[in-house]
Amino acid sequence: MVRLAMKKRFDERDTIFSRMLEISPFTDNYTDYYRRNPEREEQDAKLREETEGVFSPRKAEQRQIAAIFALIKELRPLAGHLGGKSPSTSALQMEAGPAAGRIKKIALSYGALSCGITETDLAWAYSVRGRGPHYGKKAGVILPRTIVFTAEMDENEINRAPAVEESVEVVKAYLNVAVIGLALSSIIRGWGWNAVCHMDGESELVLPPAAEAAGLGSIGLPGLLVTRECGSRIRIGAVTTDMPLASDGPSSFQVAKTCRTCGKCAELCPSGCIPSFSSYKSGERFSIDSEACFRTWRELGTDCGVCLAACPYSHQKAKDKNSGASGDEPAADFLKGFMFGGD
Ligand code: SF4
Ligand code: SF4
Repeated sequence: MVRLAMKKRFDERDTIFSRMLEISPFTDNYTDYYRRNPEREEQDAKLREETEGVFSPRKAEQRQIAAIFALIKELRPLAGHLGGKSPSTSALQMEAGPAAGRIKKIALSYGALSCGITETDLAWAYSVRGRGPHYGKKAGVILPRTIVFTAEMDENEINRAPAVEESVEVVKAYLNVAVIGLALSSIIRGWGWNAVCHMDGESELVLPPAAEAAGLGSIGLPGLLVTRECGSRIRIGAVTTDMPLASDGPSSFQVAKTCRTCGKCAELCPSGCIPSFSSYKSGERFSIDSEACFRTWRELGTDCGVCLAACPYSHQKAKDKNSGASGDEPAADFLKGFMFGGD
């Protein structure tokens, strides 16, 4: 079993989802967390008290969302966590290049929009888990190669953000990437290698930087992966494995070049939680005020998604189709029109 060199890693218990969904007052986890992070206690208590938002009366859609999240929760135990097993002695041997090609073809055949492969970097693996039955457990062995894939979300539904239809579409894509990951990881285990699926609420990895390293796109101003194909109108899934696979390099598509002059997501964000491009120093990672974002989710009663719909690249596919354009930059007229209200 390969153990990767240690790097500074992120504690999943610090994510807003772990703090809001996994710890409640008067529990040991609550006492432990706010003893270590007292500066967050008051603000988090206020967030928990936020009442249901404006879209909550949409009971059919809200229950559809809850039902699919419940289904994903039932799938999590199938993710294939390791018991320190070595690959089977009869593991199927394949050259790393053709094996990578086969994996990508399978991912696409199960509905992925795109798929890439990278060596696992512990900089984007959690040090301590913060969700479900893993809460508070130190991360174990992380397998050395990461297969990352995306599932597309419907443009018309995402354009309805922040309405509840956007959230229905997002949850559908979470299920789609979970199913693709479960299929891929089961197939790889069937070939005799170890494989672990990473899905919503059951991931050892922070997925956007993994996707960036696997060449699927680059991180834009709201800290989300932006893809050349359809912007941030995607969800990401991953499988880690010890199967030898050829890696992809990062994409030549660097959205930051556009973010510098665009800023549409920051302009339209209802909570104002996306900092402007000019507030970053060169080389700094984009990130948002996740507490302010979550508060907006609570106020709306949906997961907002305005930043997904705002990005010109989220509309690029349809535009390419109409114009026959291709390449790394969006059609200039379209981008100009979108940004300045002419389209
Ligand atoms: S989801 Fe909404 S509130 Fe959160 S960053 Fe995006 S636009 Fe802003
Ligand atoms: S909307 Fe503009 S600033 Fe925001 S991620 Fe997309 S290109 Fe970058």
